[in-house]
Amino acid sequence: MKPFTDKQGHKDYTIIIGCGRLGANLANTLSDEGGDVLIIDKEKDSFRKLSSSFGGLTITGDATDFDVLQEAQIEKASVLVAVTNNDNTNIMAAQIAREMYQINRVIARLYDMDRACVYQELRINTICPAILSAKEIDKILTETSTANDLCEVTEL
Ligand code: AMP
Repeated sequence: MKPFTDKQGHKDYTIIIGCGRLGANLANTLSDEGGDVLIIDKEKDSFRKLSSSFGGLTITGDATDFDVLQEAQIEKASVLVAVTNNDNTNIMAAQIAREMYQINRVIARLYDMDRACVYQELRINTICPAILSAKEIDKILTETSTANDLCEVTEL
């Protein structure tokens, strides 16, 4: 994922909420590619998942606390990714980013499939691990079945 630059050459400022495996991975990747990244987690220890070359900023705090979002200068963000392990936190952060700060690119991870569909209808980008995994398993099974068919044809 390349950092996005607008016509004036301004780089994206990305806020990531939740420094678990997914959040840390994303933060490391964006930082390695020269992106301007800030990551928030309520547990200081979580930042140990960041690589030694991580060049972004970190804030220890609860992302449902408005002061924490303000400390992160959410008003300057062009992208917000909410990937804590709590659907309510991710929804709340996504809604604040979208509705109060008009951040266009907002993505929330939601474990609850039904809520993921509802929020997508409300124009909040959601990713749902269960849906993504099901699609990927289906794809692998389809490809495997095709590959086996091809093998059989080749052997004939
Ligand atoms: P994982 O389940 O590995 O994706 O990790 C989720 C991360 O989200 C953990 O590091 C949690 O400490 C963090 N987290 C959970 N709730 C909040 C919150 N309200 N504010 C900030 N970070 C949070």
